[in-house]
Amino acid sequence: MQRLFEGVHRFQTEKFGKYKSLFRKLSKNGQNPHTLFITCCDSRVLAELITQSQPGDLFVVKNIGNIVPPADATGSPNSTAAAIEFAVQNLEVNDIVVCGHSQCGAITALIEGIKNPSAMPHLTEWLSLAAPVQKVIATNYSHLSHGEELLDAAAEENVLFSLENLHTYPSVQDRFEKGTLHIHGWFFKIATGELFAYDPAQTQFVPLQKPETAA
Ligand SMILES: [Zn+2]
Repeated sequence: MQRLFEGVHRFQTEKFGKYKSLFRKLSKNGQNPHTLFITCCDSRVLAELITQSQPGDLFVVKNIGNIVPPADATGSPNSTAAAIEFAVQNLEVNDIVVCGHSQCGAITALIEGIKNPSAMPHLTEWLSLAAPVQKVIATNYSHLSHGEELLDAAAEENVLFSLENLHTYPSVQDRFEKGTLHIHGWFFKIATGELFAYDPAQTQFVPLQKPETAA
């Protein structure tokens, strides 16, 4: 906790000045983020850092395994669906990015199972949303061992699964068809800081180029 207190102090005394006019503007005008960025809770994946974004740029959703539940998912209400509706309909973001990453604990749990599921009922229920990803992995990636290669492939499949599910939200699909909303699948490699984007033309993740091919 001491580190947080020190960080807050440093922000207020040293860093806030740099952002003063930006925060004032954002406070006066309200937020107008251009992108809904859905990524994992993992402490090593920082949306603003890896995209060098400023306050007000990104509407960020972090959840376990960057899973987008299908719009008709039953069970507990989920904040991800709520955030998607709000970002697409109220904030009218231009883009949605789903960003998976290497060494993802959620992906490891999908492949190897949760070690103590009865002690983590919420986590178990949440990860069950991505059961279709498990099937894809078992069917298409049996040639890969349980190593980094398999984890990365599974993380990428999981991103594609979330992209598919985004289209089950009527507001997303409506704006996507009108061409006012673009959807992107990314993969962040922690060890190297590299970002890869799904290219539908090549049906694979490729190093992120500028401009990225819209999905
Ligand atoms: Zn993760």
